[in-house]
Amino acid sequence: SVAVEDLHKSYGSLEVLKGISLTVAAGQVVCLIGPSGSGKSTLLRCVNLLETPQKGRITIGDVEVTDPEADVDRLRRHVGMVFQQFNLFPHLSVLENCTVAQVKVLKREKAEAERIARANLERVGLAEKADGYPDQLSGGQQQRVAIARALSMDPSLMLFDEPTSALDPETVGDVLAIMRSLAAEGMTMLVVTHEMEFARDVADRVVFMDGGVVVEEGPAAEVIGSPREARTRAFLSRVL
Ligand code: ATP
Ligand code: MG
Repeated sequence: SVAVEDLHKSYGSLEVLKGISLTVAAGQVVCLIGPSGSGKSTLLRCVNLLETPQKGRITIGDVEVTDPEADVDRLRRHVGMVFQQFNLFPHLSVLENCTVAQVKVLKREKAEAERIARANLERVGLAEKADGYPDQLSGGQQQRVAIARALSMDPSLMLFDEPTSALDPETVGDVLAIMRSLAAEGMTMLVVTHEMEFARDVADRVVFMDGGVVVEEGPAAEVIGSPREARTRAFLSRVL
């Protein structure tokens, strides 16, 4: 589970997050939607501690990660992140992309790491590409490798930042299908997405952000199907 309470983040004088609160219960999927510049990526980057907020609390499981005493490294190891740009290591094979952090960070034996990596590549339908390199794969395949890599770290939470928005339309479906199956298996997920159909079908809750605040949140069918706020309606009318 994740709980974010009254989170504030500024870059210099630019206040990007103005007191954000949201929760993702264990096993739930929350989709975060909102216009460009509303602070969605910044929020995700705060949750996995790539950014340090100025104020507020973030709790993952039963650990308050914003507590200066928290063992942040231990926690971060088990938060998987998938970006819009897949961020695979171009000089490493697909298998190596999925084993390097297991060995370096989790201190797994190479053989064990490879076994786990192959199982996760199988899970995303790319077992036969293990010895290939990222530039030999389509965008959708690279994103599936990025998901397999994240899963290989045994995440208790997966963060997705617009995982399909850089993909060719014909490969988007494969990536969304994997995310759907992860959700069905009970993975806790916080997903920034413009895929409203995915959000409506898969998310337990949808959070609409604008201008660094949560404008509206609730069950997916309500926020997307019958939004209460004018700003939510205006946004949805542009993206639906
Ligand atoms: P998009 O939908 O375009 O990805 P977003 O909702 O993810 O937008 P953020 O990337 O979180 O928005 O950015 C929110 C605001 O913070 C923007 O005005 C952006 O320019 C600013 N910002 C983000 N990162 C930094 C940074 N490292 N330094 C300064 N400003 C930043
Ligand atoms: Mg973003």
